[in-house]
Amino acid sequence: MHQMTLAEIARGLADKKFSSEELTKVLLARITQLDPQLNSFISLTEELAIEQAKAADARRANGESGALLGAPIAHKDLFCTQGIRTSCGSKMLDNFKAPYDATVVAKLAAAGAVTLGKTNMDEFAMGSANESSWYGAVKNPWNLEHVPGGSSGGSAAAVAARLLPAATATDTGGSIRQPAAFTNLTGLKPTYGRVSRWGMIAYASSLDQGGPLARTAEDCAILLQGMAGFDQNDSTSIDEPVPDYSASLGESLQGLRIGVPKEYFSAGLDPRIAELIQNSIKELQKLGAVIKEISLPNMQHAIPAYYVIAPAEASSNLSRFDGVRFGHRCEQPKDLIDLYKRSRGEGFGPEVQRRIMVGAYALSAGYYDAYYLKAQKIRRLVKNDFMAAFNEVDIILGPTTPNPAWKLGAKNSDPVAAYLEDVYTITANLAGLPGLSMPAGFVDGLPVGVQLLAPYFQEGRLLNVAHQYQLNTDWHTRTPTGF
Ligand code: GLN
Repeated sequence: MHQMTLAEIARGLADKKFSSEELTKVLLARITQLDPQLNSFISLTEELAIEQAKAADARRANGESGALLGAPIAHKDLFCTQGIRTSCGSKMLDNFKAPYDATVVAKLAAAGAVTLGKTNMDEFAMGSANESSWYGAVKNPWNLEHVPGGSSGGSAAAVAARLLPAATATDTGGSIRQPAAFTNLTGLKPTYGRVSRWGMIAYASSLDQGGPLARTAEDCAILLQGMAGFDQNDSTSIDEPVPDYSASLGESLQGLRIGVPKEYFSAGLDPRIAELIQNSIKELQKLGAVIKEISLPNMQHAIPAYYVIAPAEASSNLSRFDGVRFGHRCEQPKDLIDLYKRSRGEGFGPEVQRRIMVGAYALSAGYYDAYYLKAQKIRRLVKNDFMAAFNEVDIILGPTTPNPAWKLGAKNSDPVAAYLEDVYTITANLAGLPGLSMPAGFVDGLPVGVQLLAPYFQEGRLLNVAHQYQLNTDWHTRTPTGF
């Protein structure tokens, strides 16, 4: 039962092969049995899940239908869930029960999705390995000695291990696509503004975007359908009609123009990954796509720009965690300053503190122009590169990551080494573009992802290309041994 995709579950529920309650119980038991190896959940919401499953079964019995009605999912633990701990992977919020549901959570609940729990993540979504979580590292089901990627490592590991069919995640610089690549999943970061950020605990507000993590493009289409849409509570949400994503999955790739940036195949790319990317290009050519070499000349500046802008916004967003309004508070403060210092010093882990310091420095008087403003200018150049490229091609293709999942602890002493691994993903966030990662093969038994980028609001195009690819390849169907 646990092998089913969201699409298969929807058909099974519609045909009354099983109930949502039965399925939910099977998956909860599987999580209890297998998750101790992975640590992919921070909280399990068993009672809520059974209650939601029963309600979904009752709605179906009353003649309602819908692809998400009765579908088991989990939320990354930065989506606020009313009355349920929403920790953001941090000691700071270990005691925080959100007073309301994030828009994404409320929309998916209204569509009938069943919440099994809240998934582990890098602290405040800062990281690429899920090792900065206060709740401990998450293991990659493909090799328990390796990281699952981050920051949405819990969602990725849980879906990859077939603990559930799909989960929500967020992507500020790659946190949906990179863990998808590291665990053999399909993950989509939508256009900035497509999915509401209301109730999503902010890391870097101008870059953050929620999206789906699942095994197939077909399932990403189903989950995105439930997440996307205008929200007047989010001032950066865009009032653009939401297309029927599943309906966009039948288009031929005949004549599709795929741009492959020459900068992507530089020295830093593992040659074995380069070869798998070439194979995926050949596969898409067989389906009728036309390949064109393009250039993204400002790509080399993207990492330094991102690692100024993201920490700058984070230092501002995280200033609210002061031990007064909510979050961790130190014992017996001497005075107000002591309260702030010790509450924040105890509540935030080292990576979060590092980013707050970098961000506060970049925003300080005297350095603002040199760092923050300069980074914003680079951001515009990165966007302009993409706009020029999309005049010539329909999608851009390349590797999702330069290397496969590294060993647990391998990059802990060198944060910059981990930052460099984000080279292919962060440009989409800087430009606000949609991006998707899908399985493209294996290196030493570890999954590799191919990334597709499209113009604004062309999520349907990305999903269709990935779906056509998945109809003709079987990488995405491979299951990690032991799960
Ligand atoms: N690895 C990047 C960072 O640490 C991206 C994280 C994310 O997308 N949330 O900032």
